[in-house]
Amino acid sequence: MSLNSSSITQADVAPKQPLLRLDAVGKTFGTHVVLEDIDLSLAAGEVVAIIGPSGSGKSTLLRCINQLEPPTTGRVTIGDTTIEAGHTPTRRELMVLRRSIGMVFQSFNLFPHLTVLRNVSLAQERVMGRTREQADAVSMQLLARVGLADKAQQFPSRCSGGQQQRIAIARALALDPQIMLFDEPTSALDPELGLEVLSVMRELAEGGMTMIVVTHEMRFAENVSDRVIIMADGRIVEQGPSGTVMRNPQTERAQRFLHAVK
Ligand code: ADP
Ligand code: MG
Repeated sequence: MSLNSSSITQADVAPKQPLLRLDAVGKTFGTHVVLEDIDLSLAAGEVVAIIGPSGSGKSTLLRCINQLEPPTTGRVTIGDTTIEAGHTPTRRELMVLRRSIGMVFQSFNLFPHLTVLRNVSLAQERVMGRTREQADAVSMQLLARVGLADKAQQFPSRCSGGQQQRIAIARALALDPQIMLFDEPTSALDPELGLEVLSVMRELAEGGMTMIVVTHEMRFAENVSDRVIIMADGRIVEQGPSGTVMRNPQTERAQRFLHAVK
């Protein structure tokens, strides 16, 4: 399979100012160091895959980026807003973060008592001040984009896991995020249903969306992402262009991990 040329072009022409930057981010739970000295910078249109063994801190890293988990050290910069560890973010800063970053989790967390359409529309009214009509119109477009326009009036329980995850993606996109974070979005799904979710993510990437994807799908990491980051023990042990890292890793730790999973 070939690399995705459209996102490479996007990354190449991206301005020098990154969309997202982490400087020396660390996270400790009690005495347990979970993240240490994470530097990361993401340009507009870039697609980064994060892989690594279970417990290496991948989910915590995503949660530190959007401050669901406050970092213990370092700083996170989105656009021109910087949040320093150790100070409580202001409401404005949190709003910038929440508006800029969409997140999709392993568990889809849809509201079971709301229709698919309401699931996608609700936050648009609350967060973005759209009217119900506006929100529903945006939702219908996004449901069509993920191939689920015909499910709009159903309840989530009538949808497969793969469909529910695509609805969760539409819901996140409805808030017009600049960056999408995915935390193992296919790991709760049967392989076949995972594929339909991966295909939606691939289309998003090809459309120029800036994305960080924590995944155990090695083919997605190699073929769709521009850059791969390998984490182990709370640190970035290797990163670089996806083809290079996946096929010719330089560090012993990365070689050992890839040997075990490939
Ligand atoms: P990964 O996503 O790579 O599997 P995680 O980020 O979930 O790793 O977890 C990294 C480490 O941090 C694990 O050892 C985990 O037990 C620990 N950890 C994660 N969240 C918490 C928490 N809220 N309290 C204490 N320890 C945590
Ligand atoms: Mg995880």
